[in-house]
Amino acid sequence: MYVILLGGPGAGKGTIAKILAKDLNLTHISTGDIFRKEMKNKTKLGTEIVQYMDNGLLVPDDIVLEVVEKRLKKSDAKEGAILDGFPRTVVQAEAFEEFLKIYNPEKKIITVELDVKDQEIIKRITNRLTCSNEDCKAIYNLETKPPKVRGICDICGEELIRRADDTKETIKRRLQIYHKNSKELINFYKKNNALYSITPTEANETVENIKKYLNKIEGSN
Ligand code: AMP
Repeated sequence: MYVILLGGPGAGKGTIAKILAKDLNLTHISTGDIFRKEMKNKTKLGTEIVQYMDNGLLVPDDIVLEVVEKRLKKSDAKEGAILDGFPRTVVQAEAFEEFLKIYNPEKKIITVELDVKDQEIIKRITNRLTCSNEDCKAIYNLETKPPKVRGICDICGEELIRRADDTKETIKRRLQIYHKNSKELINFYKKNNALYSITPTEANETVENIKKYLNKIEGSN
């Protein structure tokens, strides 16, 4: 199965996707992580997308779809994946359905919305730190989940960084964009697939609730 995690910036998609992917033995695909890696490595794609990423704007659909299609064709995504940050527009959602019809028609798409209020999102994002180690990318919150040593990842010992797009100004723009697109996207999934909406609590508890829902959906493959 392919599980799409919908939710505003800072709703916890990355944290939930990581645990869910491990528990369900599925690949975690984060378009934001893919793009940040391209920017860090200063690739051609990285230099093309930096203007969108740093300003909290959406990367154009054609670029996103090319990157995602390439990623979905890798063998580790054949059994399904946890999609974090994709799709973000109806154009992307439609293209993803078309892609699966051709490459993996027997797999289901299940959509889970992490419903978090804007005020809470702003609080979370302004307190968010991420591990700079590409293989770790652990996420911390200065209020609710601070690292043991300031600025250092508990897991791998690498430096913790603030994302370039995690500024108060950019967050407001990202939220506006999210609300504009999410209504359409949620309506699209309500019509086409089951949509499960959940207000996240503690991460492991949220994952357990999502897993119960996934188990309930008969014949999920
Ligand atoms: P995220 O890590 O999911 O919060 O994404 C960070 C940024 O990457 C977004 O603000 C967009 O600029 C870009 N991005 C990630 N995924 C997508 C997508 N599916 N469509 C368009 N832009 C995206």
